[in-house]
Amino acid sequence: MQINGSGGCFEERTYEIEPAVAWQVGLLVAAEMAVKVEARDDEKRLLNGTILSQEKTFFTGKQKQKLFTFSVQGLDQGSCQIILDIRKERIEVYSLKSQNREAMEFFDNFDKKLKEYVSSIICPSCKAKISASVRFCPECGAPVK
Ligand SMILES: [Zn+2]
Repeated sequence: MQINGSGGCFEERTYEIEPAVAWQVGLLVAAEMAVKVEARDDEKRLLNGTILSQEKTFFTGKQKQKLFTFSVQGLDQGSCQIILDIRKERIEVYSLKSQNREAMEFFDNFDKKLKEYVSSIICPSCKAKISASVRFCPECGAPVK
C-alpha cells in the first residue's frame, strides 16, 4: 500500500523473508542512500533520520531535506512488513505532483540487495555454499567468477 502526500510518501510492503534479514538489507540501502541516522533501535527495528531529496528549494536552490523512517515488523511464518515513511518537515498542501521518488528508490535498491543477499552459489573449488556477490570464496579463498 502506498499513500502519497505531505511532500512524500508512506509505503508498506510485505516480504516473505525473516525480519532480521529485511532489517540488515534495509540498513545497507539506507546507508547507500546517504540517510543521516538520528535514532536507531535494533530491537524494535526502527530507524529515524533524514535524507536529501532530489528536489531543490525554489529560492535558495538547496536540496530539500526530508524525514526518513524505516521499520520492519515481523509477521507470521518468516514473513515481515516493511514500513517506509519519507516526508517533508513542512506539509505543502498546494503540491499535487507525486513525491514518492525516494521511496521508489529505496524499494528498488532493497529488492536488488535482497536478491544478492539471499542468492548463494557453490564454490567451484571447495564446494561450500557462499554468497553470489563475493569475488573470492570466504572459505578457501579461490576466485569466484
Ligand atoms: Zn571455496
